[in-house]
Amino acid sequence: MIIRSLALFDRFKCAGSACKDTCCVRDKLVLDNKTYFEYQRVIAKGDAFGRRMVASISERNGVASFRMRDNGECPFLMRNGLCELYVRLGPERICETCRKFPTFAKEYGNYREIGCSFSCPEVLRLVLTHPENFQIRVRENDTEPVTFDNLNAKLLPLIYPVRDRFLEIAQDKRNTLRKTATVLLKLADEVQSVIDRKAYDELASLIAPFEAGDPMGGITGEEPDAAVREVLFEKLLKLHTKLEYKKPENAVRIAAAYKTVRSESFEERRARELDFAWYMNHRVYEYRKWLFYLLYRDLLDVVFDGKFYSRVRFAVLSTLCLFEFGSLEWKSRDKQFTPQNQEEVFRSYAREVDDNPKNVARLYKKLNGSAYALPKLILALSNPIKKPVDGATPAEPLAEPLEEPVEETAAETVDTAPAETTDEAKAETPAE
Ligand code: SF4
Repeated sequence: MIIRSLALFDRFKCAGSACKDTCCVRDKLVLDNKTYFEYQRVIAKGDAFGRRMVASISERNGVASFRMRDNGECPFLMRNGLCELYVRLGPERICETCRKFPTFAKEYGNYREIGCSFSCPEVLRLVLTHPENFQIRVRENDTEPVTFDNLNAKLLPLIYPVRDRFLEIAQDKRNTLRKTATVLLKLADEVQSVIDRKAYDELASLIAPFEAGDPMGGITGEEPDAAVREVLFEKLLKLHTKLEYKKPENAVRIAAAYKTVRSESFEERRARELDFAWYMNHRVYEYRKWLFYLLYRDLLDVVFDGKFYSRVRFAVLSTLCLFEFGSLEWKSRDKQFTPQNQEEVFRSYAREVDDNPKNVARLYKKLNGSAYALPKLILALSNPIKKPVDGATPAEPLAEPLEEPVEETAAETVDTAPAETTDEAKAETPAE
């Protein structure tokens, strides 16, 4: 089996009782059979702890799960933030879900893909403090391939290099973030068309132009339309107010963000986005990390259901939404937005939206509507916002260079722009 993982996560270490948002709070925690069998042996002793285990585990249709507390906490989460099962029974008797979190592993025939969930604050801390691109490590072992009845075995080897190309595009700092989004969406549309026609042999020709070193792969944007962008983002935010939130404060925060956007004039909104883009000039990599995360985690699932474009669209639009949420947080925090603030924004989005299948299903369905049709998305993304607003101060760069300067045409470049890769931080043209 060929195993691929992200090298950065070798450094992961659970914060344990110091975790600021423990993963021991969730809707449901299903026990794997092996762990449940172990627990039954503990229960059989009949002592007080065994009796408490009986009261804390429910079984339905042969599936055992913990009875979570009313606030969603695991019944074995102690006040000091430690796991009572871990402390009493040892790490080998923790259920599989808890033992593996935040790691996820997905299998596709002879391939296993390993990553870490962005809903863990420690994972995000690692990601946000390492600006360099994700490195994928590949190794092989003797494990037999996993067989799936519904896996498209013909598509798998051909879509693999395509998915890898998407990951490279997501991390390619030669393009601005918006150009990256444009390329990903347009290319994904072409890939989807090939998949729909089952003309899988054509996939290689779609990514060939990138192999010649062109970061855009010959793909171009469209004439800009500022109004399309504003309407689209307002709709996207409104859509997020309709989702289900476990923590009431997150629902309140999203509703407040939408209210702010609604109360802003067109100019105010544009100025905010512009100022924030300038402020985040050195930290565009944070958004590329999110984009990469979703593409890495989800894109290969196309071999089960044939859906490629919708996954790329979700990755791109959620990334742009996070940018919008970040700019609203920045505004509400007196124009400050630290990597810790970003960690909170990413984590609450990961937990509340991305980890909730109901919310994801709703978003996928809505994003399929005509309001988010590809031509509109491209018009919105192609629209260059260029000039840093007077008085905007970029956040202090970290020690390492984050994004290499991009070579732009003379008309687009501003002397003062440091290491910029977003369209937003270049000189605005009055014509816009
Ligand atoms: S969320 Fe992450 S850091 Fe926190 S307890 Fe869980 S695995 Fe550890």
